[in-house]
Amino acid sequence: MVLTSDQHPITNSNFSKAALKTCDVLQKHGFSAYLVGGCIRDLLLGIKPKDFDIATNATPEKVHNIFSSSRIIGRRFKIVHVLYGNEIIEVTTFRSNEQTKSRRGTTVSDGHGMLVRDNSYGQDIDEDCNRRDFTINAIYYDPKDGTLTDFHGGLYDLKHGIIDIIGDPEVRYAEDPVRIIRAIRFKAKLGFKLSKRTEDPIAKQKSLLINISNARMFEEVNKLFLSGHGQASLNELIDYDLLRLLMPGQRSVVTDSEFHDFVSYALESSDARTARGQMNKPYFLYAVLLFTKVRSILEQQSASLGSITYPEELVVQTAQQVLNTQNAATDIPSAIYYDISSLYVLYFSLFSPFITQEELEKITSNSRFRASYDLLKLRAHFEPSLEPYVEFYKPYYDESALKAETLRQKKIAKRNEKRQQKRDAMNAFKKDAQSKNEKKAKSESFSKDSAQDRQERLAKARAWRIAMNLDP
Ligand code: ATP
Ligand code: MG
Repeated sequence: MVLTSDQHPITNSNFSKAALKTCDVLQKHGFSAYLVGGCIRDLLLGIKPKDFDIATNATPEKVHNIFSSSRIIGRRFKIVHVLYGNEIIEVTTFRSNEQTKSRRGTTVSDGHGMLVRDNSYGQDIDEDCNRRDFTINAIYYDPKDGTLTDFHGGLYDLKHGIIDIIGDPEVRYAEDPVRIIRAIRFKAKLGFKLSKRTEDPIAKQKSLLINISNARMFEEVNKLFLSGHGQASLNELIDYDLLRLLMPGQRSVVTDSEFHDFVSYALESSDARTARGQMNKPYFLYAVLLFTKVRSILEQQSASLGSITYPEELVVQTAQQVLNTQNAATDIPSAIYYDISSLYVLYFSLFSPFITQEELEKITSNSRFRASYDLLKLRAHFEPSLEPYVEFYKPYYDESALKAETLRQKKIAKRNEKRQQKRDAMNAFKKDAQSKNEKKAKSESFSKDSAQDRQERLAKARAWRIAMNLDP
């Protein structure tokens, strides 16, 4: 179905300048370029898009050559990131329907039952649309004329709240099991239903997810929990019995109400932060997800201590043990690994009986103090005995938050000042160039005048000489 610009609500004003420019430049180089995927789906639902994805028939290398500020990402599935300051526009080359065949003509699998497809590039959207995951993600917008093209009934599914996988579900999940997680994520994000054919194979095929690279799983887990619909994602993952696959060290814990209630409450609070435009950091998410496990090991290990404080080495060791197990499913980058461990250390040190003012200052001036206080507040909701600590640290938290805000404002002011300086320098340069041009033009007209004068003078002199009979 093709809708002309007057038949749907999307206009070019819905997209960032960077996204429109990328399409325009590609089209001016003779390629086709469409906005597609999440941004079109979200705009049609009245949701502000998170980012803009572009599909084109230009190969990644060509796109990279056209845009000086761009980089090719990925080896098997190459995509290009075109950079405009902080904004990244993701450009994907059309895929074709052609399967990747071995020389003997059989379909190539990667040794884990995952079919290796999507490697051959296509020329048009009528092929590319078959390689996309769900019908609602396969609607294309052409900013040149405002047309909207829908090959798989995505508009109908959007209207009826349905997530429907394109093609044969079992084949599509086998090709890329991450589509199972994506189906769950869109269900949680949009509050849609999975069509029966999309839902049925999940139980049988979900174990394929263990073959997905841990780095990719880390990204997927972040998208599930940190994009403003974390609480709904948690419930869906539990309903589809997928959480145990994402958290291998927690098999015994994920069915536990203590784990569920705490994580659900924490995600509700991070969803509210997203709604207010605040950031949620992956290290805090993992500290929350793994908290009950870490605490239960600490309790077992130091039952004799009978307290809520634990020696620092024990906390570091326990955090490492739990994080290593988690790494079997999601590759946690080493910087985040360190952040989580430090957050736990600081959190448990909040309960130590202070000896000196110095020690208290050390804790409250730590860069992770506010995060540890946030964790404390979440825990206090379930452990009333922690309430006095929440009260005690509140003034320190408020002071620290105020300092951070002042620092942030200063940074913004400094950045704006720098921008202004750049703008002033540019204007001065333009003015200078303009005045130079004006001077040049003046001097040219002056030299023109004087040449004319000279001609006139010579003519007069010649006339005078003739009159005086001076010329031979
Ligand atoms: P959002 O960005 O809001 O999370 P999205 O649908 O834009 O959602 P992206 O990961 O940005 O998700 O992918 C962009 C588009 O690329 C998708 O809409 C879909 O058309 C296609 N796509 C992404 N991942 C897959 C996949 N695993 N299989 C098939 N198509 C995919
Ligand atoms: Mg997207």
